[in-house]
Amino acid sequence: MTWFTDADLRRLAGPKSYERGVAYVDAVGVVDELPDGVVATVEGSESYVVRLSGKRSLRGECTCPWGDDGNFCKHCVAVGLSLLAAQPVRRRRPASPPDLRTYLESVDRAALVDLVVELASDDPALSRRLSLRAATHGKPDVKELRRLVGGLRARGFLPYGRGFDYARKASEVLDALDSVAASHPADAGPLYLTAIQNITRTLEQADDSSGSIGDTLRRAVSGYAVACRAAPPDPMKLAAWMIDIQVTGPGWPDIPIADFADALGPDGLKAYRDRLAAADPGGWAVRHLREQYLKVIAKDTDALVALYAEELPQSYRYVQIGTTLRSAGRPAEAINWLRRGRTEADRPDGRIDELLAELLTETGAHTEAADLRWHMFIRQPGPQSHRALLDAAERTGTLPETAERADSHLRELARAGGYAADPLVEILRTSGDIDGAWAAAVEHRCGPGLFWQLTVARAETHPAEAIPGFERQTEAAVDQKNKKGYAEAARLLTELRSLHERAGSSAFPAYLAAVRQTHRNKPTLMATLTKAGL
Ligand SMILES: [Zn+2]
Repeated sequence: MTWFTDADLRRLAGPKSYERGVAYVDAVGVVDELPDGVVATVEGSESYVVRLSGKRSLRGECTCPWGDDGNFCKHCVAVGLSLLAAQPVRRRRPASPPDLRTYLESVDRAALVDLVVELASDDPALSRRLSLRAATHGKPDVKELRRLVGGLRARGFLPYGRGFDYARKASEVLDALDSVAASHPADAGPLYLTAIQNITRTLEQADDSSGSIGDTLRRAVSGYAVACRAAPPDPMKLAAWMIDIQVTGPGWPDIPIADFADALGPDGLKAYRDRLAAADPGGWAVRHLREQYLKVIAKDTDALVALYAEELPQSYRYVQIGTTLRSAGRPAEAINWLRRGRTEADRPDGRIDELLAELLTETGAHTEAADLRWHMFIRQPGPQSHRALLDAAERTGTLPETAERADSHLRELARAGGYAADPLVEILRTSGDIDGAWAAAVEHRCGPGLFWQLTVARAETHPAEAIPGFERQTEAAVDQKNKKGYAEAARLLTELRSLHERAGSSAFPAYLAAVRQTHRNKPTLMATLTKAGL
């Protein structure tokens, strides 16, 4: 019945997991047969699903964290051992599961309560869920909720796999706080505060590359904002907390001032501004908070411009100043700053030119806009700058001569060799002139990626000319020497066959035979080709 031995289990698991697995044999529950092995549940602090498979060589998978990392864990060992011992008796799952609902409805209420309490005592997750319901039923049980929020405190480093469990737990607690906040916001506020603190600490010592813990932290902050709006706390304390946690914290959470403005009220906002003014102005966090305050609360364009101007001549600050003045309806000033930026910025920045060109167009300075677009095109010739140039030329009534001038510039560039023809080819290709792009690519050469895109487009109308490109691409796919590359090669060869047909050529069988002959020692490739009917 089994296709492995005790020695296999020892070898795959290693001595430690093997030993632990021995202790788990009794925890193995239902075992079901699968075409290629078995699937079984193992009950522990939580219930895990184990799958042993691979009829020739044993493979084990398990839903526990250790198994999740690809290890042959103690649960796999336990299932393996119970199969070797042919116990527990292997049971097939009954065809239709018993009707649980009908059964439970028939059970006496007191017995049902006993049953659920007993289940909860063995299952921390169920116990937490029931406690949260109990504590938020009717008048909130603040003491119990405080205990549950305390359970979100970090205990040591949290590796990637455990982060999801933690986030789920935190979400359940936040669900409970949200329901308390709806009826008793003043009780919910301090609980959110502790939750924010605990989740922040946890995040400092967790691998949260999935972002799930960060999401719960943002959720806790929004929950707190809602509670504060309904039952505003002391505005001075709230203002101090908001500044301190962001300025001295690890970089999170982000506390959006807009969400708390109502709760702060005029006094709180003044306290917020004063505390911010007193903070060390050099740090990134303080600058960010000042910016947010000026943008969202004070809506003070001049102060915002002054803030950005503190960091000139950083090129991006000119862009921010220009953007701010533009959205304040002050385009003339924006244009002046951006013109300055073009000469004064610490390094050339395409975003300065782009914003300036847009503003010039918006204010009707079409000739200057067209000049600028020409410079931008020369500096970075490509489909986008070319399109913008022609649009600007259209507005000054100089489209034909500008298009002509741009074309000769691109052809001049192309003569330099290398891949200098790429902009010309790319611009012709994206404007739909495939014949022109093809002629330019053949005359000057262009980058391989671009040439391949062009070949695919060319194949539509001129199959014969596309054949050499498809052959090169096929050889490159085979050279990857892996399954993916071989599958790609088979796909390309199939296309090649149809290209030959459409070109009226009978050379495909000879080409295919040559490929097969050259690569006859690659059995996987040969099998892939055969399977594709090649
Ligand atoms: Zn496991």
